[in-house]
Amino acid sequence: MLVVVYDEGYLRHETPANHPESPNRVLSALSGVEGLAEVIKPTVNVDLIEIAGLVHEYHYVEYVTSLCATGGRLDQDTYVSKGTCDALSSSVNALATAVNLLKSGTSHVYLPLRPPGHHVGFRGRALLAPTQGFCILNNAAIISSLLLRGGASRVAILDIDAHHGNGTQEIFYNTSRVFYISTHQDPRTIYPGTGYINEIGVGEGEGFNMNIPLPPMTGDDLFKVALKPIENALREYKPNYVVVSLGFDSHYLDPLTNLNLSLSSYIEVFLMVKRLIDEGITEGSVYIMEGGYNTDVIKQGSRALAMISNDTGAVKIEDHTKTSAEVVKYFNKMIEQHKALFPQYW
Ligand SMILES: [Zn+2]
Repeated sequence: MLVVVYDEGYLRHETPANHPESPNRVLSALSGVEGLAEVIKPTVNVDLIEIAGLVHEYHYVEYVTSLCATGGRLDQDTYVSKGTCDALSSSVNALATAVNLLKSGTSHVYLPLRPPGHHVGFRGRALLAPTQGFCILNNAAIISSLLLRGGASRVAILDIDAHHGNGTQEIFYNTSRVFYISTHQDPRTIYPGTGYINEIGVGEGEGFNMNIPLPPMTGDDLFKVALKPIENALREYKPNYVVVSLGFDSHYLDPLTNLNLSLSSYIEVFLMVKRLIDEGITEGSVYIMEGGYNTDVIKQGSRALAMISNDTGAVKIEDHTKTSAEVVKYFNKMIEQHKALFPQYW
């Protein structure tokens, strides 16, 4: 059964009225898994500064935690409230709890936490992005580091948020122990403006950073094409664990983005990850909530994740979306470079 690690602390990070990243997102995820998951509170208490320091520079973490005393903001998009440090503490406790669950054999863990994290690099803004895009600590990066510290040899991060995870890419760009794989809207058309195909990693990390940009209005049919090299890469890499940066903003109803995916694409990802676990390619998966600003999509998507993790049979929530011939042409032209760089996965 899917195990959800929830803590009220996630709700205490406050943003201004009408800010898309609101506590309701967490409540929607919870209502989606109701009756379908084991919901637990974090079972361990770790030190926020020490755990955040696994991937972030000390001065950045100190700065953020000092802002919690008064409230303030890190940039025009990213706010810190007096309760933000409660949310961050709850999040790192949940990450450490998830590591224990995975190591003791739980296959599917879901952390519907906030604030999100994948845009934060070593010291906040990553790779020249204009802002931190609502993110404060990089939860996916922290849990990957915890898993490596706990004995894993390889971790894959699959990031299906509509925005590129520039922070996660920055943090693991020169290592082969974390394979960062991201699908996202074409960086020429959306924040943070990174995530091009030729960003493949450096040094030991060369070949272990894989970006698959998607043109605006990409539908489920085209996403399925993009998922094939991803599954092949994961099968060859054989990560001990798969960390999914689960952003629900690739959905067509999302107010901030321009992709045209339905929940069918999310279901394809959940099924793929489950297949890899069932076949013994990887031991377990942890889904970490990133973006996604339509609360009904978060609810229905979380419900689909629970149903698939629990093996409750066929899940169909929405009709598939189709991509126009013009957009397919745009994708095919762009993706030639990917096929040249990663021919073994196509
Ligand atoms: Zn996003």
